[in-house]
Amino acid sequence: MTATTDLERAGRVAALLDDAGADVLLVTNAVNVRWLTGFTGSSGLALVGADGLREFVTDFRYLSQSAEQLDAGWERHIVPDLAAAIPKLLDGATRLGFDDAAVTVKDHGRLLELVGDDVTLVPTAGLVEGLRAVKDDGELDRLRAAARLADAALQDVLTRGLVGRTERDVGLDLEFTMRRMGAQAASFPPIIAAGSHGALPHAEPRDVKIPSGTLVVVDWGAQLDGYASDCTRTYATGDLDPRDAEIYATVLEAQEAALAAVRPGPTGKDVDAVARAIIDGAGHAEHFGHGLGHGVGMEVHEGPRLSKLGTVALAPGHVVTVEPGIYVPGAVGVRIEDLVVVTEDGHEVLSGLPKALTTVG
Ligand code: ZN
Ligand code: ZN
Repeated sequence: MTATTDLERAGRVAALLDDAGADVLLVTNAVNVRWLTGFTGSSGLALVGADGLREFVTDFRYLSQSAEQLDAGWERHIVPDLAAAIPKLLDGATRLGFDDAAVTVKDHGRLLELVGDDVTLVPTAGLVEGLRAVKDDGELDRLRAAARLADAALQDVLTRGLVGRTERDVGLDLEFTMRRMGAQAASFPPIIAAGSHGALPHAEPRDVKIPSGTLVVVDWGAQLDGYASDCTRTYATGDLDPRDAEIYATVLEAQEAALAAVRPGPTGKDVDAVARAIIDGAGHAEHFGHGLGHGVGMEVHEGPRLSKLGTVALAPGHVVTVEPGIYVPGAVGVRIEDLVVVTEDGHEVLSGLPKALTTVG
């Protein structure tokens, strides 16, 4: 456990404070604290000031860990009550930014009491997340490694076949294989959904045997070194009903067209519309009810989003999924998802398994 994050990120946060109307930002969300400081413990908060204030507060359990993980530029404080330490660390600042999307009403009330009347609490939700959305080279390396591990794990699982195994068994096998290959965890419990069950976008694996001659949606990811991957492939388990083969072909066409549109400039909404036009054109408008994709990083769902609501323009360093699907209730579901980085002149796909319809017996 060596320091992984220098003070460069704190500097980027500090540069945004004035526009956000704050002198100091209180960072409490554990993922944001980790991104900012490199600290991986469960109990810690950071204060970043526009004028160079860099304070980190944790409790006794993390005395050694915080010393190892934090850059020496952070002033560390080991206290029994983290919030109670905040007021005396503000160094006279009167505008304290806080994450109104993460701080509970109860904690907000306590914070108000602690800082007193001289300090105004300024809501600044999304400030750190906006910076987190643009990945640096080290983060991209970690995401690449996570995606590669997830690919290798699924390839290994598929050598043991799909037909006759339960969805649950395949899901557990995939989770176990990822862990055995070095993943810290699965990014989320893998989705293994055969036939009509695949028509539920967030299907939970069942104790039901996978039949031949159908489609199976496999949505999985590995968490490695603090970063998550996310990918989906849909496999055939034998000769398909022509309806199913056609749906697969439509989703693949939509996925590849949307992928080709991923580059700096278009908004999430623009890219979403590319896939949606193809799926709508095939008569499945009502069968693609979710957004095209989402950002991925330390969390498996983060910004920017690719959907009808995606107003952020894609920029180099954004890492997003491109995952159109068609879900015909009671019949079948298909989703194909890649994890991609927006580059200066286009994109780089991190998930590498083939997308041409593949049969696994
Ligand atoms: Zn996924
Ligand atoms: Zn996804």
